[in-house]
Amino acid sequence: MNNDCVFCKIARKEIAASEEFRDEDVVAFHDLNPQAPAHLLVIPTLHASHLSDFVAQGRPQVAVELLAVASELGARFGEGKGYRIVANEGASAGQTVFHLHFHVLAGRRFAWPPG
Ligand code: AMP
Ligand code: ZN
Repeated sequence: MNNDCVFCKIARKEIAASEEFRDEDVVAFHDLNPQAPAHLLVIPTLHASHLSDFVAQGRPQVAVELLAVASELGARFGEGKGYRIVANEGASAGQTVFHLHFHVLAGRRFAWPPG
């Protein structure tokens, strides 16, 4: 837990989010600043700054749980037309909130490579 972390506050329901999924380990909600018609974030309820932290802690299965939820949401919101799952790992990769999250984007075409 990290008292200053906005995603910890969402996980603890201290600030509101438009949630699509919640269980003991994972919460998924709509991004406040969507970059596609559907843009969701999938987070672990326990704080970890980076994906690599789970691996270092010997808990890579948490990442599998996050990806399972992300792919289910991508299939639902992508409506058969595909979707993109992204993790920005570190500031130089575009990470701005340092609580691990997978972005799930759907509802439009996506260019490759990303910027
Ligand atoms: P990243 O830049 O990969 O760290 O992504 C952080 C994402 O969190 C951005 O897309 C923000 O729009 C989103 N975000 C920040 N605060 C909130 C919030 N309170 N509720 C929903 N999304 C948020
Ligand atoms: Zn956090």
